[in-house]
Amino acid sequence: MWGWYAWRRRRVLEARPHPGHRAVTELQRILPSVTVVTQNVDGLHAEAGSAEVVELHGNIRRVRCLDRAHPFTGDVPDDDDRDPPPCPLCGSPLRPDVVWFGEMLPERAVARAWDEAERCDALLLVGTSGTVWPAAELPHVARRSGAAVVEVNPEPSELTHLADVFLQGAAGTVLPALVEEVRSRQAAPP
Ligand SMILES: [Zn+2]
Repeated sequence: MWGWYAWRRRRVLEARPHPGHRAVTELQRILPSVTVVTQNVDGLHAEAGSAEVVELHGNIRRVRCLDRAHPFTGDVPDDDDRDPPPCPLCGSPLRPDVVWFGEMLPERAVARAWDEAERCDALLLVGTSGTVWPAAELPHVARRSGAAVVEVNPEPSELTHLADVFLQGAAGTVLPALVEEVRSRQAAPP
C-alpha cells in the first residue's frame, strides 16, 4: 500500500490543474461566496488558486500516522518497495492522509460541506458518478433546502435526476464556458 501510494503521489505531483480547475478559481473570484467542496485528493484546486477548499476525502500530498493521526511534515520517502516509515512522535506507521472505503470522513470538512449545502442558492455538481456516500448526499441536502442543482458531467450520473440543469460535457470544456457566461452577466449593466 505504501509503495502504491508513493507511486500515486509522484503522479499527482506531476499533474497540473486543467481549465476546469482554473474556471472554478475564476468563479470564486467573480463570486467570493462560492465554496469549493471536493472528493478529489490531488490538491489541484488549491494549486489552481482556489481559496479554502473543503476536502471531503483528504489529500494525498499529506501524510499522517496510522494510530494517532499526527501530521508528518518531513520529507516523505518516495521509493516504492519499502514499508511505511514510523511516525517520529509515536512510532506508528505513516499513511497517506486520505479517506479509505469504510473510514469516517474528516469531521470539520463534513460539517462545513453540509452547512454550505443547506445554505447555498445553487450547487454546481461537477465530474462525479454520484455513487460514493456520504458525499453523494450533498446535492440532496441542497435540493431539500431549496437550492438549484446544476450538473456538469460527460455522462448522466446517479444524481442527474436531481439536477435542474444538466450540462453534458467535460469539466475542462463546460466550466470555462459557464464561468465566461457568469462573468459577462456580472459585467453587463442591470
Ligand atoms: Zn504518531
